[in-house]
Amino acid sequence: VRHDRSQGWHDAKVEPYRPLTLDPAAMVLHYGQAIFEGLKAYRQPDGTIASFRPEANAERFRRSARRMAMPELPDELFLGSLREIVAVDGRWVPEQDEESLYLRPFMISTEVGLGVRPAAEYLYLVIASPAGSYFESGIKPVSVWLSTEYVRAAPGGTGAAKFAGNYAASLVAQAQAAEQGCDQVVWLDAVERRWVEEMGGMNLFFVFGSGPEARVVTPELTGSLLAGITRDSLLSLAASLGHPVEERRISTEEWEKKVESGELTEVFACGTAAVITPVGSVKYAGGGFTVGDGGTGEVTARLRSALTAIQRGTAPDPHGWMVPLTPK
Ligand code: PMP
Repeated sequence: VRHDRSQGWHDAKVEPYRPLTLDPAAMVLHYGQAIFEGLKAYRQPDGTIASFRPEANAERFRRSARRMAMPELPDELFLGSLREIVAVDGRWVPEQDEESLYLRPFMISTEVGLGVRPAAEYLYLVIASPAGSYFESGIKPVSVWLSTEYVRAAPGGTGAAKFAGNYAASLVAQAQAAEQGCDQVVWLDAVERRWVEEMGGMNLFFVFGSGPEARVVTPELTGSLLAGITRDSLLSLAASLGHPVEERRISTEEWEKKVESGELTEVFACGTAAVITPVGSVKYAGGGFTVGDGGTGEVTARLRSALTAIQRGTAPDPHGWMVPLTPK
């Protein structure tokens, strides 16, 4: 779908996958107006294909667009584009198992010009790709690197938008984490470098105590982390399973101290791609520690199976989270 000032949104079509043709002076290549979303299409027991809360992705896509001075794609067009791509690529949605079809809606500025200003022409596309498990290790716990040298987002910046530049800026820290033998970066706040924000493509949760009364804590939305849809859903799901839930600041000192004292029992990350992944060990410049026994905690496992059962259509869906993308 294209957008320009005179025609608004127009020219929606489904085409075979092919390279794009862009002018070398297309503004996205120079000034980076590029936003995206990520969703999964899951096969349901009755054979239909459904997605998890796609209206929430449509809304977040409009928020990202506003932040990047891009036009807002109407929700009907966003959701319609998902139905269209599933109509042609539905055969790539695997039968019931750990796999799914990953959907990647995105928008770029295509206007030709060398002046720095919001472009007047845009292209919105969706591509699809079969997705297995996000981490090669499956649901094995990941090791994380606390980044104090680099930050992902700052107050007033673009951290709350799903903006391509946020990911470009994170690559150097991801490489640093890999050099340290860690799988993922944990980002801290830009000002004090002590408040935990999120991981590269996932939000973080901390479990205090154990059993059905365990408290589930996630960093509050400060404006410099992404409002994950999995995060929001897990806050409801954990509460419905009887866990007290809290959105608040959590510091790296609290993380280490309360792991040591045994109060903080489990840490996990969540997002569309990885669903729920335990955090087994933590490393930072000058130290490191293991969370619990370094394995998958019971609350983590319970929340994971509750969420995946809803996504696979094998458990009731009291919140109406699953949205069909194909006709019955
Ligand atoms: N944080 C960042 C930076 C992300 O890219 C993602 C993935 N969209 C998430 C968190 C998790 O968001 P969601 O649960 O909506 O996939």
